[in-house]
Amino acid sequence: MLGPRSLSAAVELASFRTPTLPPATHTNSYAIGSRDVVLVEPATPYAGERRAFLEWARSLAFSGRKLLAIFVTHHHKDHTGGAEFFARELGLPLWMHAETEARLPLQAARLLTEGERIVLDGPVPTSWEILHTPGHAPGHLCLHSASTRETIVGDMVAGLGTILIPPKSGDGDMAEYLRQLRRMETLDSFTAYAAHGEPIDNPSSRYRAYIAHRLTREARILEVLTIAPGRTADELVDPVYGELPFATRPFAVMSVVAHLEKLVTEGRVRESDQGPEPRYA
Ligand SMILES: [Zn+2]
Repeated sequence: MLGPRSLSAAVELASFRTPTLPPATHTNSYAIGSRDVVLVEPATPYAGERRAFLEWARSLAFSGRKLLAIFVTHHHKDHTGGAEFFARELGLPLWMHAETEARLPLQAARLLTEGERIVLDGPVPTSWEILHTPGHAPGHLCLHSASTRETIVGDMVAGLGTILIPPKSGDGDMAEYLRQLRRMETLDSFTAYAAHGEPIDNPSSRYRAYIAHRLTREARILEVLTIAPGRTADELVDPVYGELPFATRPFAVMSVVAHLEKLVTEGRVRESDQGPEPRYA
């Protein structure tokens, strides 16, 4: 465990080791609320880390905080590895989106949808609006406190490393992801708390940078296909990304497929499936 440490009057961070994508090694869990508290990201599957999480949660309760629930941002295993265990050990209900519950072998006590609010009483009362932000994962939820201008952003952006948008076969949706980032930009938050890495100040500029980065890659794919049409996703990776470490290549292929799916939907690229793999032009 790294931390815990207080980030603001209503947000505390503790970070736990998880089976996540390098260079990240940990997933951030947050305790939101200054008296009523919701624990966000029950992530770690490792025994020692789970013990540390339970100690952290119990110390919050010992200091007069009232634990209400455990909030799951999305179904990926580096976010849910302790969900059932912590719910049982702490006697707390699990809250998540229906699309998340559908992908996990567990039952949610409450299914949350876009626009709902989690109101947390205490010396600094906060009201957290639920934002349903699919794209990285179908049930992905963020939490936004308008009064303190803080946003819990899960895996929409990262304070460390990058965010993988899988193709539709892996439950991703590049077009939707970019739409959601544009929407988050309008929140005009002071700080975003991501699941990996340090808090992000002025996150709107980070969202813009993520959008620009993806659109640059998309433009590069179109450029390559204009010069040399009829390539497979795999054949696009080298000209689009350049040199890549061997271990990273499969993720680059997934990302290229996600971009191609968006471009095909928009009618900017054609897909032909004659042959073992689809070719694009
Ligand atoms: Zn994820």
